[in-house]
Amino acid sequence: MQPYLRPDLDRLQAYHTPHFPEADKLDANELPHDLPEWLKNKLAFLLEQGVRTNRYPEGDPLALKAAIAEYCGVTSDMVCVGNGSDELIRSLITATCLGDRGTVASAEPTFSMYRILAETLAVPYVGVARTADYGVDADALEAAIQANGTRVLFLANPNSPTGNLLSDETSERLGSLPVLVVLDEAYYEFSRFSAVPLLWEWPNLVILRTFSKAFRLANFRVGYALANPEIAAVLEKVRLPYNLPGLSQLAAFAALEHRDVLLAAVPEILAERRRIERFLADFEQIELFPSDANFLFVRPRTADPEAVRVALAGRGSLVRSAAGGLRITVGTPEQNDRLIANVAALFTPEMR
Ligand SMILES: *Cc1c(COP(=O)(O)O)cnc(C)c1O
Repeated sequence: MQPYLRPDLDRLQAYHTPHFPEADKLDANELPHDLPEWLKNKLAFLLEQGVRTNRYPEGDPLALKAAIAEYCGVTSDMVCVGNGSDELIRSLITATCLGDRGTVASAEPTFSMYRILAETLAVPYVGVARTADYGVDADALEAAIQANGTRVLFLANPNSPTGNLLSDETSERLGSLPVLVVLDEAYYEFSRFSAVPLLWEWPNLVILRTFSKAFRLANFRVGYALANPEIAAVLEKVRLPYNLPGLSQLAAFAALEHRDVLLAAVPEILAERRRIERFLADFEQIELFPSDANFLFVRPRTADPEAVRVALAGRGSLVRSAAGGLRITVGTPEQNDRLIANVAALFTPEMR
């Protein structure tokens, strides 16, 4: 109807997440805990004393970048911050492919934003199928990159929704690919595995991280990219001015300052993930995949995953159906107890 709007946007849908306030929210890989009250009070104080709401925020938040650089063991000129890592994904596509220069590639199933952001920019997206155990097929990836003029490759490590890390053999091959290689380490604080040391070996490497998961700041939308200074400088050129609100900058800075307290929850989440894994392993009808993150990926062997999702939601456990399976975020012990009871009510264990 509207002749001025791009027709290729007709088939896209606005990003939408279900609103289910009564259910246990185990569908977005967030940490189940809010910030501690004393830290929220500190942020409220900083908002009152340190933020003039009529003024634009700092466009280049140097103190935050320095704190991120210290946390990651890099220099400040290797850090870019974004309004969530989603903004940085878009900046990376803008900086590599925009204007018919090339395609975006990833290994499917994976995080949907790589595809969505490419499509909104009218950049072709190439999804290469993962192997049966969700590993990356490096030969197929390399062939697809050659055949499609790919300029940027996104790989989530660990992957979402499947939770697995890249194998060593695959990782070793990425450095020699003729593309910008973006490793998305959104779950780094859970996996404790990082490619940061490779930033000095591979000129084509970018690492993405976020404050949305282990640091409990999903509401504030703070992500960051780590790359060599030349790439970082280009990402700075294509970002929006004032992309990070002042309160978000303060929250991220405070989260790093108090990371000992905040990240103390990580081993608890991992222990809870193992508890859920032990429970699910008893079910013949559920295929469980190994995870290095704060969520689990399972595939019901006979039931339709979407039907299982709806049944679990009806019982108060909201999980995500994705890639022919279910992605279940680890919650609080009480939420996990309810999840376990709800799964037990839907499936009968073979043994016990
Ligand atoms: C959650 C997640 C992110 C985080 O996105 P933000 O925009 O920083 O909230 C990025 N990548 C992956 C793979 C994720 O699962």
